[in-house]
Amino acid sequence: MSTETILILGGAFAGMSAAHWALKHVIPQLPKKGTSYNVTIVNPSKDFYWRIAGPRATASKELMPYDKLFYPIEPAFAYAKDKFTLVQGKATHVDPAGQTVFVETVTGEQKSIPYAALVIATGFTTPSPLFTLDTDRAALEATYDKFHSQLKGAKTVVIGGAGPVGVETAGEIAEVLNGKPGFMASTPKNPKAKITLISAEKKMLPVLRESISKQAEKLLKRLGVDVLYNAKVVSATKASGAEDAKTTVQLSDGNMIEADIYIDATGTRPNTGFLPKEWLDNRNRVSCNTKTLRVEAAGPRVYVVGDCGSYSRGGIMDQNDAIPVAMTNLRTDLIAHLSGTPAGNDRHYTPNAKGGQLVPIGTQKGVGYMNGMALPSIMVWMIKGRDYLVSMLVENQLSGKNYAKEGKWVPQPVVAAGQMVTSSG
Ligand SMILES: Cc1cc2nc3c(=O)[nH]c(=O)nc-3n(C[C@H](O)[C@H](O)[C@H](O)COP(=O)(O)OP(=O)(O)OC[C@H]3O[C@@H](n4cnc5c(N)ncnc54)[C@H](O)[C@@H]3O)c2cc1C
Repeated sequence: MSTETILILGGAFAGMSAAHWALKHVIPQLPKKGTSYNVTIVNPSKDFYWRIAGPRATASKELMPYDKLFYPIEPAFAYAKDKFTLVQGKATHVDPAGQTVFVETVTGEQKSIPYAALVIATGFTTPSPLFTLDTDRAALEATYDKFHSQLKGAKTVVIGGAGPVGVETAGEIAEVLNGKPGFMASTPKNPKAKITLISAEKKMLPVLRESISKQAEKLLKRLGVDVLYNAKVVSATKASGAEDAKTTVQLSDGNMIEADIYIDATGTRPNTGFLPKEWLDNRNRVSCNTKTLRVEAAGPRVYVVGDCGSYSRGGIMDQNDAIPVAMTNLRTDLIAHLSGTPAGNDRHYTPNAKGGQLVPIGTQKGVGYMNGMALPSIMVWMIKGRDYLVSMLVENQLSGKNYAKEGKWVPQPVVAAGQMVTSSG
């Protein structure tokens, strides 16, 4: 009996979800005769990292214990043990003609894995090591431990980048260093540290409207965070020598700050360096048909899901909408390939127009909007600020419960590769 592999590169938010979808809704519908099927994830860590809670974990392990941050991947697939494989390693390159991915495992072994269908879900790396699980859980825990001991004595902290990650991190760190402010206080009573958040734009949290950004500034001020606007971090240079040496942060407006701690929250880099250049767009994301999520430059049966895809605005909402689309099209293409019949209809991706963003500021307050409406601070706290969605979403993410059903969809005519799709579906 031959084995066909649905190969998934990356085993975090998008990769685990794609694997659950494949096991629940793709494999059961594939032709049975003489072939068995396997879903293989390649991921450098055997644990899943709840990155969303990174800002609180950065500030304190008492507030965000490591057991709430890391979860083993394999037990989440125990229900399909004989059809699931986790390869702990990194994809190093792809041979599109031979439909094979080359992998270096954590033990240094070189492997080649042929695929019947390939899903790319390798996400992104952050400039700060505080928000990326690159190797294994122990390494990131050690990074946090070292950071926490430096943070204890810090008198000046600079955070570059005033998107949600920068704002959340500033709030968490400020509360740990300067304490919770009094009920009516507009600044902390006895601040121990000067914390500065650098915003490249004239307002922080670019996705949110002006009034919400202003509210965020007020809440940060209560915790002892100053925001500098219209300034970019040009360079951040740590003096050589001791672990606790200062970092000189040079800003584009000519100002310079000497910081005990500098955190770079200025953006992300897609993990796509191992892919052929022709598969990438001008921001190094995997270029795909934004309706079908097929990677058309890659040849047959290659798809992208998650933040490394050109279709995505980033975040788990876009991803939740994309998984069923990419995986339905994968199933359609694979059935046609294996049975030699014409492909069925396509499923189309449509970005959620309303969206939402929730930004906790310390353990008690926050700002945000959902479905176009600003949310009161208490709601942001209730939904996200209590535990950064651990109790609300982790179980679903691990078990793939979100994808118990494949969901309703409107069949769309198949469009040849390279042809533009203009209608929405
Ligand atoms: C601090 C922080 C807070 C956030 N908070 C929120 C939030 O509140 N709400 C929200 O919607 N979004 C949030 N986001 C964004 C969210 O984390 C991303 O949307 C999500 O991580 C994307 O998931 P992904 O699976 O596409 O990529 P990743 O989570 O980046 O996962 C990619 C996986 O692929 C692995 N990988 C990388 N290279 C290779 C390779 N060569 N071979 C095999 N595997 C590889 C990586 O190790 C990783 O396990 C936050 C991001 C950060 C940094």
